[in-house]
Amino acid sequence: MSTIKEIQAKTILTRSKIPGADYCLNPYVGCLHGCRYCYASFMQKFTDHSEPWGEFVDVKTNAAELLEKELKRINKGSVIISSVTDPYQSIEAEHRLTRRCLEILKDTGLSVSILTKSPLVLRDIDLFREFKDLEVGLTISTDSEDIRKLFEPAAPPIELRIKALKQLHSEGIRTYAFIAPLLPMNPERLARRLFPHVDMVLIDRMNYTYKTRMIYNAPYQKARLKVRASGKRYNKSNFPCIGKLRPLVGVLDKKHGLEKWLDRGFTEEIIQRLRRVLEEKEVVLC
Ligand code: SF4
Repeated sequence: MSTIKEIQAKTILTRSKIPGADYCLNPYVGCLHGCRYCYASFMQKFTDHSEPWGEFVDVKTNAAELLEKELKRINKGSVIISSVTDPYQSIEAEHRLTRRCLEILKDTGLSVSILTKSPLVLRDIDLFREFKDLEVGLTISTDSEDIRKLFEPAAPPIELRIKALKQLHSEGIRTYAFIAPLLPMNPERLARRLFPHVDMVLIDRMNYTYKTRMIYNAPYQKARLKVRASGKRYNKSNFPCIGKLRPLVGVLDKKHGLEKWLDRGFTEEIIQRLRRVLEEKEVVLC
């Protein structure tokens, strides 16, 4: 059972440290997708929630009003929606904060980049068409639905995300796939599934391994449980009980050899294999 709370935010646009984006716009605090690797869980300290990350969301009910006010002092640049939440997580269907913010942004001349894991983004295609400079990205970190279930348990299936990219692209919207964090996958198969539907692909490896190391190491865990004890940033409240995941982890380890996916040399090879297929298809890579 998730906790959804309506709040009044103090600001809505924040300066961005993400390359290519001047501002971040996050209509929600928290994210019901609850990805196990999510770096944004640090946002919990700005809330009064004690629930685990993935089980609460604060809805910034005044997001659109704040945006209108803050845009009075900004007339150029780029905005990413979102950086620490998913703007099209399921509650957006009811609250429509992302849509209301987009309705305001479309007349500003700011360039807008949307990043989500949800096919709910298709609801706003009518609005996207009204922008001069807008792109929509879907995060697709693996081609394996079992791996997706392990790392992104409450996020929409991979197939639905690819279908969303396909529809957006076919409707003339500029699209990108965000392959990050790189999860166990068949790189050639993923690249071939993506390339017809995207203008650009961004790739990044798993940078926050302190959150997922227990999963990768679980099959070898007896000797390695020290990792848990020594991981200073390990936060039990943000981490699922590995006990429940053990059967799934065991099956996936046999298939993918999970631990090697923590090795930088190995993941670099995977990135090169993705790049080779995508470059052949003339997809722009970042
Ligand atoms: S969808 Fe993004 S913000 Fe939401 S839990 Fe997953 S990684 Fe975090």
